[in-house]
Amino acid sequence: MGDILVVGSINMDIINKVERHPSVGETISALETETGPGGKGANQAVAASRMGSQVTLAGAVGTDSYGEELLALLNGENVNTERIMVKEGLTGLAFITVNGAGHNHIIVSPGANEKLSEADLLPLMPELNQAKALIVQNEIPWAVSAYIIKEARARNVKVLVNPAPVEHFPVTILPSIDLLIVNQHESEALTGLQAKDHVQAVQAAQRLLDLGANAVVLTLGEQGVIYLDRNGEYFREAFQVSAVDTTAAGDTFIGALASSIVKGKATQEAVDWACAAAAICVTRKGAIPSIPYWEEVRALIE
Ligand code: ADP
Repeated sequence: MGDILVVGSINMDIINKVERHPSVGETISALETETGPGGKGANQAVAASRMGSQVTLAGAVGTDSYGEELLALLNGENVNTERIMVKEGLTGLAFITVNGAGHNHIIVSPGANEKLSEADLLPLMPELNQAKALIVQNEIPWAVSAYIIKEARARNVKVLVNPAPVEHFPVTILPSIDLLIVNQHESEALTGLQAKDHVQAVQAAQRLLDLGANAVVLTLGEQGVIYLDRNGEYFREAFQVSAVDTTAAGDTFIGALASSIVKGKATQEAVDWACAAAAICVTRKGAIPSIPYWEEVRALIE
């Protein structure tokens, strides 16, 4: 078992580039089609692993060839895949269509991710005792996430939660979370407050504490990030880089943050490292291919 346990989604992204999105009933040809590994669980696991942490990913893929491809890729990233179940049927798929203006339409077919059950996680329990942190998102059945959060807390494992996608995320779980990591959209959905600038973001993060969260990281895209707990606030400006593709910026941030925390860095320093990792990610195209390695992040930060 690694220092970090990620329980989350594993997808294959199927990306079609089109001149324009089709109208209802219309068939168009793609200009270009690519596949790439994705899913927030897989992205965050790879980000933590590239930062040098021992990472176990628990989740599910299907019996199709994408499942095999994803397992091979994760093994190649030094992510422990022994707790990834293979479920009869399709792997989780994300169908992404990007038009000439860069606007996306995305349909996620959860596939195997949706078939993950609490019973599938039972073999993890002895190993969970040795983990230092658990990361969960919201792309697998919520009952499974809630179960592993409860088990991690009972073992004093630090619980990091990224409520993405935020729809149907129950705020009643907030007191069981050590560190809640949200972007502006997720923050607004949970609090009803906008977080467009620094002042608004602090108010929104405060509302999340009032709702029961123990500590909040609110990422603000190119503006940077706010950390807030009951002892105070830390604001970190984003690194100045020329962004070409922000895909996986949040996932890179979370993986790097978890890795820095389990290495024993103080929260502010861990946030700095996560910002640096995410800044490098946005200078490159794609999801997993854009996630940096520890040496690159150190070179930016030091
Ligand atoms: P998400 O990808 O979940 O929408 P954000 O857009 O808030 O999350 O980005 C996460 C983090 O990535 C930010 O807090 C910031 O540190 C970094 N980041 C995002 N966009 C940029 C950018 N244009 N320049 C530098 N860093 C960025």
